[in-house]
Amino acid sequence: MRKTIVLLLAMVLVIALAACGQGNSGAGGDSKGYVGISMPTKSSERWVHDGDNMVKDFEAAGYKTDLQYGEDVVENQISQIENMITKGVNVLVIAPIDGESMTKVLEKANKAGIKVISYDRLIRKSPYVDYYATFDNFKVGVQQASYIEEKLGLKDGKGPFNIELFAGSPDDNNAGFFFNGAMSVLQPYIDSGKLVVKSGQTKFEQAATLRWDGATAQARMDNLLSAHYSNAKVDAVLSPYDGISIGILSSLKGVGYGTPVKPLPIVTGQDAELASVKSILAGEQTQTVFKDTRELAKKAVEMAEAVLEGKEAEVNDTETYDNGEKVVPSYLLEPVSVDKSNVEEVLVKSGYYTKEQLGL
Ligand code: BGC
Repeated sequence: MRKTIVLLLAMVLVIALAACGQGNSGAGGDSKGYVGISMPTKSSERWVHDGDNMVKDFEAAGYKTDLQYGEDVVENQISQIENMITKGVNVLVIAPIDGESMTKVLEKANKAGIKVISYDRLIRKSPYVDYYATFDNFKVGVQQASYIEEKLGLKDGKGPFNIELFAGSPDDNNAGFFFNGAMSVLQPYIDSGKLVVKSGQTKFEQAATLRWDGATAQARMDNLLSAHYSNAKVDAVLSPYDGISIGILSSLKGVGYGTPVKPLPIVTGQDAELASVKSILAGEQTQTVFKDTRELAKKAVEMAEAVLEGKEAEVNDTETYDNGEKVVPSYLLEPVSVDKSNVEEVLVKSGYYTKEQLGL
């Protein structure tokens, strides 16, 4: 009896101590530092994963965190960052909604001695960016376009085929990299006439989609289809992001694509969002580019730790990302092209999704 009571008391003590320890790291009492994490929007799953992964990794490493989403409103994001500065964060990890909107707020951050990591999207027009953690963004575009090239048999001289082009948000530095990467593969075929853009809209500004909005892309696709395809069919659509791909697919299905007589065109994407991976498995969207947000979160944590400890972080690119004020030392992770044939291999085996989530 006495032994049981002693054991019970010991257990209570252990639990109390554990709770106390957690409270400390959570509240920052004896944490290694305070990290402000500013993400663009929860409307796209990838950013939800990015935010959650960073909170998990930073807290496991002994940091206190403040995670905020700007919900695609530039002013929200700036005032959230101002709040973080007031609350006394030591480092900011920012994926900007508008890459050029951070100049003033980062001056404030710098005056307060706060370090800055640009996360996935480059912060432009500020000298106060210490590091940039991202993926090889040019390669993302190359992978999307190479997929189209391969599936249409362009290298074997097949064609001509009809294609329409979509790009991402013009205020996001990545969008240009994706588009230029894709055009590095597609342009020669457009020039030789093996790819035909019936709308004639081949410039980035014409193809861009403000805030990566799926509904905006859907409306543009509706217009393209009614203006240029009443007597022709689309064979491929370059789409830079899964949310845009889903909009494009709705538009195509709305005018009868997706039937044996009128099959859907090749439609690319990016981010391996759940809805798009399911769409790929259902034979609608054709491809996506997987960017492992778990790895990116780890890189951001490594960079933040390095700047806080006054050490140098590991980088693998010191040339590509000139933000208008400086070339930001960067770490570029590898994107992976995914279609029906490697969903399991890439997304399930790595534990990014379970078979159940994908209905496999
Ligand atoms: C990211 C992409 C994402 C897009 C829309 C870009 O900056 O690199 O992964 O698809 O934003 O959220």
